[in-house]
Parts: sequence; C-alpha cells; structure tokens
Amino acid sequence: QDVVNRMAAGEVLARPYNAIKELVENSLDAGATEIQVHMQNAGLKLLQVSDNGKGIERDDFDLVCERFATSKLQKFEDLMHMQTYGFRGEALASLSHVAKVNIVSKREDGKCAYQADYLDGKMLATTKPAAGKNGTCITATDLFYNLPVRRNKMVTHGEEAKMVYDTLLRFAIHRPDVSFALRQAQSNDFRTKGDGNLRDVVSNLLGREIADNLIPLALDSTRLKFEFSGNFSKPIAAATAKAALNRKTTRSFFSVFINGRSVRCEILKHPLDEVLQNRSLICQFCSVHLKIDETRIDVNVHPTKSSVIFLEKEAIIDEIRAYFEKVVNEIFG
Ligand code: ADP
Ligand code: MG
Repeated sequence: QDVVNRMAAGEVLARPYNAIKELVENSLDAGATEIQVHMQNAGLKLLQVSDNGKGIERDDFDLVCERFATSKLQKFEDLMHMQTYGFRGEALASLSHVAKVNIVSKREDGKCAYQADYLDGKMLATTKPAAGKNGTCITATDLFYNLPVRRNKMVTHGEEAKMVYDTLLRFAIHRPDVSFALRQAQSNDFRTKGDGNLRDVVSNLLGREIADNLIPLALDSTRLKFEFSGNFSKPIAAATAKAALNRKTTRSFFSVFINGRSVRCEILKHPLDEVLQNRSLICQFCSVHLKIDETRIDVNVHPTKSSVIFLEKEAIIDEIRAYFEKVVNEIFG
C-alpha cells in the first residue's frame, strides 16, 4: 500500500516545482500576504514555504497530511464548483509520501505555535508547542529519498531551480499585492514588496523595457460568463524581437491563471499569437487571468492541473481573439 501511495504521490509531485506550486497555493488559500520559499539543492535537500496566513488549528494537525483531507470543500458539489483552489486534499498527503515533512503553524487566536512531523501520510508523534509567529511554515526534507531513480535522474539541479524560479515568478506577477521571496542560493533569488505595484514587480523581474510598455487587458463576457483580465507588453516587430532573442537579452513570458489557479493553457495564447502573426509582431510578455463560471470548466481532470477542459471553448477563444484584435488595432491602427 505504501508503494502504491508513493507511486501516486510521485506522479502528482513529479518535480520540486510541483510541490512549490501546491504549497504556495495553500498559502494563498490561507490568505497570506507574505510568502517565502527556501530551497537547498533544488529542493531535494530542503524545500520550505512559510507564510503569514491564517494558520492551522491544533486539532487539524493530525489530518492535514491524510489523503483527501481538506478544509476547503464545504459540500460535495464544491468538487464540481471548485470554489477554492486545490485538488481535494492531496498535496500535503502526496508530499509526505515522497519526503519528510515538518509543519509549524500558529493561528492568530492560538496561545502559541505548534509543530509536528509527518511520514507516509501519518503524523509521527503528537503536536508539540513550538516557537513561531502567526502563519504556517511547511518544510520538506530529502525529497524523493524513497524514489532513488527519480532522485538520481535530477542531476541537472540548475534546471529544477529554474523551474522553481519560473513558478514563483508567475505567482509574483499574478499577485503583486502579495510579497514573494525566493531564496535558493542562486543568482535568481528575488523578493517582491507586495504593495500591489505590478509595474515595479515586472521591472525588477523582467526588466524596465517590458514594465514601461504594459497594456492592461479587460474583457467581460456576460454571454459566456467569463472575465478576462491581465496585462501584456506592447507588441514589437518580430524582426526586432528575434535580434534581441539572439542576443539573449530577452525571452518571452506567458502566464495563465484560471480562477486563481496557475495552469498551463496554451489555447489561451493562440488568439493573441494569431492576431500578432498577421502583423509580423510578437509580444514579449503576457499575463492573464480568466475568471469563469466554475460549471463551465474542469480543472480537476489531471492531478497536476496543467490541463483544463472548457465547455464552449471555441466561443470563448473567438471572443478573446476579437478582443485582442480590437486592442492591437487601437495601438497600431
Ligand atoms: P487542499 O488544499 O486541497 O485542501 P492540501 O493537501 O493542499 O489540500 O492541504 C490540506 C489542508 O491543510 C488544507 O485544506 C488546509 O486546511 C491545510 N493547510 C495546508 N497548508 C496550509 C497553510 N499554508 N496555511 C493554513 N492551512 C494550510
Ligand atoms: Mg492545496
């Protein structure tokens, strides 16, 4: 049974950045305004996310790493409606099957912080009082210690570290109102202020050129019940961009959140690409958020939630394409 759990967990959390994404989403769910990520050896030795969110109740400690234990579904229908993030209490359980997990957490109304250790979905001893400020700190050590093949395959720690950076970068840009810090002893460590200033975040992380050319996006479709928002940088001539890419001074950034979830969703990129291609333009930066009636999408199709299924996909894409057409027209005539 443990082997089965471990294999399943290894699928859900295939790489360190998958774990980071889940932990950061939990912190955001808990209302955190400050989130710190600390890694050693690309997360294989140490992977830690601490936040100033609402914390975990002492009585809930023995549950949090149990499979399907979630405090976020009020009733079964929520599974369909996906009111908050998360895929039904699997992230922490999975993590505890592929790493040694420690949780320290303090609620604002709690006397003190408590801490506990977890292995294979179970709490190891009872919770103990601990020092700690309001919020939660989750530490995973020796990631994939029991999946040696996986662990040894990750020889290119640089690549894992880059994926973690990329993951956190997306959150930092999506939520400029939250302060994110990444510390992995790499040149790409960063900290954002969390003061809500997107331009500053983009400027610091991706450069002034992009930050100075941000164009906001806002499309409300009452007909298809979705809101499309975000920012993209003023498109530039493809030839210019190519020259810049060759000098390796720039790379293009594209990020999609759907109902607050970071997802890989290329189909939302296609309408913009099409509009720009016709004009030999390219866009170096685009960050969008699609808020859509939860009955019209299914983000739970795959445990890593990288794929999303839309009802009325064509109609949605058509409206977004028409909108981009209009916006680009306004800029370039
Ligand atoms: P889910 O997010 O789907 O509920 P998880 O396995 O990610 O499942 O988390 C299990 C539970 O642990 C959550 O429902 C929440 O109650 C608690 N939890 C996890 N991380 C945090 C955090 N950073 N702050 C407060 N509570 C947390
Ligand atoms: Mg979660």
